[in-house]
Amino acid sequence: MKLSTIQASLNQLGMQPTKSLGQNFLHDQNLAEWIVAQLDIQPEEAWVELGPGLGALTEFALARSPRGLVIEKDGRLAGFLRERFPALEIIHGDASEFDVRELFARGPIKVLGNLPYYVSSQILFAFTGEPSPVSALIFTLQKELAERLSAGPWTKEYGALTLLVGRRWKVKYLRTLPGSVFMPAPKVDSAIVLLTPRPAGEVPACDGELFTRLVKQGFAQRRKQLRKNLAGRNLDWPALCQHLGVEETTRAEELSLEQWIALTNFVTKSSD
Ligand code: SAM
Repeated sequence: MKLSTIQASLNQLGMQPTKSLGQNFLHDQNLAEWIVAQLDIQPEEAWVELGPGLGALTEFALARSPRGLVIEKDGRLAGFLRERFPALEIIHGDASEFDVRELFARGPIKVLGNLPYYVSSQILFAFTGEPSPVSALIFTLQKELAERLSAGPWTKEYGALTLLVGRRWKVKYLRTLPGSVFMPAPKVDSAIVLLTPRPAGEVPACDGELFTRLVKQGFAQRRKQLRKNLAGRNLDWPALCQHLGVEETTRAEELSLEQWIALTNFVTKSSD
């Protein structure tokens, strides 16, 4: 949407952007079209958009497939969207409280969203946390969160979030966006990430719940050696480190995804 259209629409609604809802509207149309193009929505494909606002991305998603559903928390914007896109399924609600299983039961779907910071992680986990028919997600996030999602081992951004999402999803950091592409401009940069499911067999299988518990425990105090964070588990530490090919003094952030999976499988075997 053009800046002038955004301003006119907000005037028409008699509203100012609400900071607490992260209302920063994208006013670069080329960028909006580019973001939606990355998702490659096919004419028959279903898609869902979280936090559509005034519809900056929605219009380009709709141009690709009519099978859309949007979830917007602000009732004024949901009403605006109903007038702008009469044929679109619009839910006035909180995307972080939405029952994704009901959505997933409908079949294959693509997901997009320019998420407000205060609910980004929650929404991200809801849409990536369970086995699902989601074939791709594109999110505009605060840059810092996007960096944590796409980080590699041995960096300060790499952590539990990277691994918990990364075990089942490939995360591609597509580009950084300056605040100036939004109205009003936020003080921090944003970034666009594309998530696609890892093909079966790309990484070894493991007990997902145990993996989650171990990763959270391992990163609980990231300055500490991993051995200390996992101390309560009564593991044969030298044997485990030899199995993983790491030093006994290793820290959580020094293990790759594959090593975390191997660690999980080692723990599973040890408790058999
Ligand atoms: N997608 C639009 C764009 O790019 O211009 C708007 C993006 S704006 C950053 C975030 C949008 O999410 C706002 O419209 C806001 O009202 C909505 N929102 C905030 N919290 C939400 C929630 N929990 N569930 C659904 N929508 C939410």
